[in-house]
Amino acid sequence: MSEPAPFEVYAVRYATVERHAAENFIGGDPHEAASRMDYFVWLARRGGQVFVIDTGFNEAAARRRRRDFLRSPVEGLRLLGIDASLVEDVIVTHLHYDHIGNFDRFPKARFHLQDRELAYATGRYMATPFFAWAYEVDEILAMVRNVYAGRVRFHDGDAQIAAGISVHHIGGHTKGLQVVRLWTRTGWLVLASDASHYAANMDEGRPFPVVADVTEMVDGWARLRELAGETGRIIPGHDPLVMQHYPAASAALEGIAVRLD
Ligand SMILES: [Zn+2]
Repeated sequence: MSEPAPFEVYAVRYATVERHAAENFIGGDPHEAASRMDYFVWLARRGGQVFVIDTGFNEAAARRRRRDFLRSPVEGLRLLGIDASLVEDVIVTHLHYDHIGNFDRFPKARFHLQDRELAYATGRYMATPFFAWAYEVDEILAMVRNVYAGRVRFHDGDAQIAAGISVHHIGGHTKGLQVVRLWTRTGWLVLASDASHYAANMDEGRPFPVVADVTEMVDGWARLRELAGETGRIIPGHDPLVMQHYPAASAALEGIAVRLD
């Protein structure tokens, strides 16, 4: 079988917030590495084929939740030449507020989502604030409307979206979290999203404290490594080191978008 054509993959940083490192690791953190949390959406592009992974929050949500809003994720994508109003495929890693806001800005999109994520976000655990706080009920309702409008493509577990791009259910952080695996010019790349907020969560075996099932989260790190293979890369969901380790997409996009492949 011939290899699929490679994707270009970008991380677009749209918000940030100062954190105590202890907030990012169950049991606290002895070193002060993770004292900031960055917020990203991701773009995978191959010729005219475009996949946006997550849609981020907007300025109003940033104010409500006291995050430092840098720019709309839609504007970040525009700087990479992507018009959100024309995007046809959005992969939603999970339904937390920082991953699915702004989806009204994608009027043509179909949303790729795990069955288990919508079930979780509309089910019994949402009556418990510990599980519900990172969801915005209005956004969940809007996603349910998308279901009725035929705009949600459900996946159950692993699914190939196109040659060289697939989604994989991981769970852990939420019941239906999925990650995205992409074929690139440098090999396999796995967008972990919140399967590992920081590289240190998985590298040091220290779970992030916002979690539906800790055992699933720990199993998820092994799954990420398996998906990446020996030479692949795993991109954590909120780690400021991503902006340092990868080159800016262009000189004009310094501090805004990095190229991951
Ligand atoms: Zn998140």
